[in-house]
Amino acid sequence: MAVYDDNNLFAKILRGEIPCKKVYEDQYALAFHDINPQAPTHILVIPKGKYLSYDDYSQKASAEEIAGLMRAVGTVAREIGLDAPGYRILSNIGTDGGQEVPHLHFHLFGGRRLGPMLKRDN
Ligand code: AMP
Repeated sequence: MAVYDDNNLFAKILRGEIPCKKVYEDQYALAFHDINPQAPTHILVIPKGKYLSYDDYSQKASAEEIAGLMRAVGTVAREIGLDAPGYRILSNIGTDGGQEVPHLHFHLFGGRRLGPMLKRDN
C-alpha cells in the first residue's frame, strides 16, 4: 500500500500552510468549501488524522476517530442546511475511483436536485 504523503494538499490545509474556506472544525474533522464546486453547495470533510483514503481509514482508524468523522459529516450538513432538502456524500478511492488528493475526504453535494448517481456512458 502507498505511504501517506505529508505534502499532499489537504495535509497542507490542515497545517494552515494553504488557506481554505472553513465551514466547520472539531477535534476529528475539518470541513471547507471545494475550490472547484460541482454543485451549488460542495463541501469537503476530512479527518485530522493521516489517512490516504477510505480504504486506509477503514483499516487503521480507531472507533473513536471513525465515529467522530461520521458525526462531523452529519453536523456539517445540518449546520449549512443540507439536511432538509437532502444531499449526497461521496468519497473517491484510488485510481478507478478518481481520487486526486491522497488524504481521505468526503464530498458533500447539495443545493439542487443532483440527478443520477453516476455519469451514464450510454
Ligand atoms: P478527489 O478527486 O475526490 O480527490 O477530490 C479532490 C477535490 O479537491 C476536488 O473536488 C478539487 O476541486 C478539490 N480541491 C483541490 N484543491 C483544493 C483547495 N486548495 N481547496 C479546496 N478544494 C480543493
